[in-house]
Amino acid sequence: MVGAGLSGAVIGRKLAEAGHSIVVCDERNHVAGNCYTERDKDTGVLVHVYGPHIFHTDDEEVWSYVNRYETFMPFVNRVKTTSGGRVFLLPVNLHTINQFFDKTLRPDEARDFITSIADNSIEEPKTFEEQALKFVGRDLYEAFFKGYTVKQWGCSPTELPASILKRLPVRFNYDDNYFFHRFQGMPENGYTGMVEKILDHERIELRLGHRFTRAESEAFDHIFYSGPLDGYFDFELGRLGYRTLDFERFYYDGDYQGCAVMNYGDLEVPYTRITEHKHFSPWEKHEKSVCYREFSRACEEGDIPYYPIRMADEKALLQRYVERASQEQKVTFVGRLGTYRYLDMDVTIREGLDTADAYLRSLAAQQPLGSFFVNP
Ligand SMILES: Cc1cc2nc3c(=O)[nH]c(=O)nc-3n(C[C@H](O)[C@H](O)[C@H](O)COP(=O)(O)OP(=O)(O)OC[C@H]3O[C@@H](n4cnc5c(N)ncnc54)[C@H](O)[C@@H]3O)c2cc1C
Repeated sequence: MVGAGLSGAVIGRKLAEAGHSIVVCDERNHVAGNCYTERDKDTGVLVHVYGPHIFHTDDEEVWSYVNRYETFMPFVNRVKTTSGGRVFLLPVNLHTINQFFDKTLRPDEARDFITSIADNSIEEPKTFEEQALKFVGRDLYEAFFKGYTVKQWGCSPTELPASILKRLPVRFNYDDNYFFHRFQGMPENGYTGMVEKILDHERIELRLGHRFTRAESEAFDHIFYSGPLDGYFDFELGRLGYRTLDFERFYYDGDYQGCAVMNYGDLEVPYTRITEHKHFSPWEKHEKSVCYREFSRACEEGDIPYYPIRMADEKALLQRYVERASQEQKVTFVGRLGTYRYLDMDVTIREGLDTADAYLRSLAAQQPLGSFFVNP
């Protein structure tokens, strides 16, 4: 397993339980990949080092899988946003609409009101901006969608496809639970402890601080590679585009912002959001606080790749890498970097379990697994 994140851990565990001897390596000196959490030395707060991670899923099997390794505490993600010098609830809901327009609308009235301010002149929206204007009109678009999107993706919403905004991004009730999923929670002792327990098996050998290169493949029957797809080929066809994040850590004596996540929609504010980590573990008590200001920018050589861009140019390059990868024997590309997709943790675990099952079936049938279990 190249990578000791959720992909490598879940696949490795399942194959170890089936009797295989597994080596899991990671170039970092810790497990858990981007879900890695650690205690801040100064405050004792559990910090989500590579950005905030909230576990949410509709998949009962995945929910019981994570609960086997860690106690999950109740947590509902309720995000706020500061826009134009005022604080609102996200996702945009009845409270946001009433507060923003200084009204007291009921659901049906709000629905009619949004229809009346939406830009009905746009028949077939082609861009993200047109789609948003057609759904919610200019005022809500500019306050809650435009600035955040520009900062997050580094381009104008007129350059992004309409498909990003598939549904009406507004709720006509007072539900401010950020996620729709049935199960939601936070691991009591962080994700690192959970992944350590998944990897804790007599047939799993862990090699941290070890960067895998293709030359090592010979020593193994099969490689599951959860590193960057282009990195596997030493970027020989070029680099797949990613956004990276910079986190500016700061401390506060007390409660800095009163919530875990505060977005900043205004373009004049250079960061996209501030996360206050102690609010991700509300069952713990901490006097002091540690926060991250989060900045998004284009990923360059040496940066951590966070969000795949997946616009037309990147998809064309991806296609070339997929063709290149399909010629490889004995290696399956998995996870968010191996398949160049944004994957939530629950989807990563689901795919990990299914990939391991497919490998076991392929061995039984004496058929090779192939370079991709999931087509990127
Ligand atoms: C900012 C951010 C916020 C997120 N928030 C959420 C959230 O709230 N909820 C949610 O469900 N999901 C969230 N996710 C998604 C979550 O991080 C992923 O689902 C998960 O990390 C995917 O696991 P993975 O094992 O595929 O990849 P990773 O966690 O990236 O693990 C891959 C590992 O491979 C290692 N590696 C790479 N190349 C090599 C090499 N050549 N040799 C050795 N090791 C190598 C890397 O060091 C890394 O540790 C978020 C993602 C980001 C970026």
